[in-house]
Amino acid sequence: MRLGVDLGGTKIEAVVIDGNGDECWRQRVLTPQGNYDATLGAIAQLVKEGKRIVGIGPSAVIGIGTPGAETKDGSMKNCNSTALNGRFLRKDLSQLLNCPVKIANDANCFALAEAHRGRGRQVGVFKAEGESTHQCPGVVFGVILGTGVGGGIVVNGTLLTGPNTIAGEWGHNPMPLKGEASGSARVERVERRPCYCGRVNCVETFLSGPGLALSYQQRFGETLRPEEIITRMRNGEGEGEDKENAGFIWREYMQQLAVALAQVVNILDPSLIVLGGGLSMVSEIYQDIAPMMKPHVFTDEFDTPILPALLGDSAGVYGAAWLVDEIT
Ligand SMILES: [Zn+2]
Repeated sequence: MRLGVDLGGTKIEAVVIDGNGDECWRQRVLTPQGNYDATLGAIAQLVKEGKRIVGIGPSAVIGIGTPGAETKDGSMKNCNSTALNGRFLRKDLSQLLNCPVKIANDANCFALAEAHRGRGRQVGVFKAEGESTHQCPGVVFGVILGTGVGGGIVVNGTLLTGPNTIAGEWGHNPMPLKGEASGSARVERVERRPCYCGRVNCVETFLSGPGLALSYQQRFGETLRPEEIITRMRNGEGEGEDKENAGFIWREYMQQLAVALAQVVNILDPSLIVLGGGLSMVSEIYQDIAPMMKPHVFTDEFDTPILPALLGDSAGVYGAAWLVDEIT
C-alpha cells in the first residue's frame, strides 16, 4: 500500500494504491483558501481517514505532491497557494501526523505516475526487486507543457532528485534559439524573454502556453489564447498573407520543442518521454516531433517513444503515492 496526497490550489486529493498500482481508496476536499493551518488540518484529516479505512498504521510514511518546491532549508516556494510560501510544510505535517512525509513538485509526481501507472505500463521493461506485477521503463522523462514547463526523471522506478532537488528542471535551461524554423527571414529577430526565475529565454518562456501566445503576439501583434492559436493552425486563418500565421508559429514552436528535447535525449537517453499539460493534447505533436528531433540527436536510429500522458488530472495524486516505498 502507498498513500499519496495531491495538494492543489483548489482541491486536496488523497489516494491509496496497492502493490499492483490499483486504487483502493480516494477522497478529495476543497483547499481552504489563504489559510495555512486549515490546509494542514484538511490534509491531516484526509490522511488519517485513508490510513484508517485501508488499515495502514498511523506512523506510516506518506507522499505529498505540490505545485511549489521545497527549498534547501525546508520552506516552500513558488506555490500557487501562496499561503504555503515560506512555510515548512513537510516538517509541520510530519509533526501534526506523527509520521514521515516525502514531498515533490507536480512535474516530478507526474513523471513518477506516468512511469509506473500511465504510459510506462505500456512501454515498461524494468521490474524492481520485490515488485511482482507492475513494471516500468528504465528511464522516463516526464514533461509538463502547460502554464509552465516542468520536468521529472524516473530511473528504474525511482524519482531522481539530486543534491539541489532540481533534477529534471529542463524548463529553466536556456532555449537553444538557433534551431528555430529555417527558411524564413522572420525568425532572424533576437528575442529576450524574462522568466519568473530571474533568467532570460528559459525553455519555459517559449514552450509553455503563455510562451506560445507570446510568440504569436510578438510576431503578429495579436494576443490570442494558446487554444485559439491551435484552432487557427488547424483551420487556417484570415486571408492572403495572414492565412498561415498560426501555422508558422506552430512550426516554430515544434522546432523549439524538438531542439530542446533533443538536448535532453543526448544527456539522458530516456527509454520513454511522456508529455503532459494542456499543450500535450495537441495531437499534431506526435506525428512530427520524432523526425524533427532526429537531426539534433546524436544517433542515426532515433526511435525513442514520445507519447501523450494517460493519467490526466490523476497523475499528481498517483505520483505522490509513488514517492513512498510500499507499505506492507
Ligand atoms: Zn526560468
